[in-house]
Amino acid sequence: MTALLPPAELARAAALLRAGELVAFPTETVYGLGGDAGNGRAVAGIFAAKGRPHFNPLICHYPDATAAFADVVADARARALAARFWPGPLTLVLPRRPDCRVDLLTGAGLETLAVRVPDHPLALALLRQAGVPVAAPSANRSGGVSPTTAAHVLEGLSGRIAAVLDGGPCGVGVESTVLDLSGAAPLLLRPGGVTLEAIEAVLGPVARVLPTAGATPRSPGQLLSHYAPALPVRRHATAMAADEALLAFGPPLPGAAITWNLSETGDLAEAAARLFAGLRWLDAEGARRGCRGIAAMPVPETGLGLAINDRLARAAAPRR
Ligand code: AMP
Ligand code: MG
Repeated sequence: MTALLPPAELARAAALLRAGELVAFPTETVYGLGGDAGNGRAVAGIFAAKGRPHFNPLICHYPDATAAFADVVADARARALAARFWPGPLTLVLPRRPDCRVDLLTGAGLETLAVRVPDHPLALALLRQAGVPVAAPSANRSGGVSPTTAAHVLEGLSGRIAAVLDGGPCGVGVESTVLDLSGAAPLLLRPGGVTLEAIEAVLGPVARVLPTAGATPRSPGQLLSHYAPALPVRRHATAMAADEALLAFGPPLPGAAITWNLSETGDLAEAAARLFAGLRWLDAEGARRGCRGIAAMPVPETGLGLAINDRLARAAAPRR
């Protein structure tokens, strides 16, 4: 059952987060559905609890800019914006550091990571006590309205998460502004709590990516061409060639050159948590051994399997 925790039980909420449990918490924007961003199973659990249909990257939350910039490469623009707007409703998309603690699943396998320092005393205290980066999309079932009270959270997620930390209603009530600083020109991916004008006062002109921009390759979440293994991917494999690398699910097919099992027991949450690491490992190890491709066993089209299959379909799609 989902526990409704008053602010006095902050330490319990932090301990749950450290233990890999999911805890919803208030921020100045909306309630976030938090999980340890370095724990692939916790992150897979966020996708499952929300019923999020695709591997949309999650925003990672930190108690201060120093903690955030330990996981991403911050340039002068990022530092200036952080000094001006953090804590606050601005999310910065920046390149991951090589030693980034955050699981690849959190960022949907991208080379970039969205980071933020929320402006809410309870959220900041929780993040400080948890001591880990916290992945947190809005604490609602996918497709629903974002929650701005603990009661809203329970309406959608009761029984699906360990606890809700009750900090009363959220102040801002709309999600953070998402700004992509991973390229030469800053790009507004999502308008939000910090205005474009305020950002432009610091950075100068900022281009806006419209959600309708279809083929524009910055459109987050939908843009899985960011991840493409060097080796071609063959899906729905039911037999193996000796020079193929196998991405297995359940009991592995015989005859593969090398194998990465997403989940021996057929656990979709485990499989989702292991997918990106597996594709990267098969790609590197397969290339080293002269494999001609990666063959992926079928994954059921249910629950997190939809997300896994979505990623595999994109990985297998013809390269541009
Ligand atoms: P939500 O968690 O539902 O508030 O959504 C987070 C938003 O940030 C979505 O629009 C994501 O696609 C976007 N986002 C998160 N991480 C990245 C990233 N690495 N690159 C681009 N967009 C991102
Ligand atoms: Mg949302």
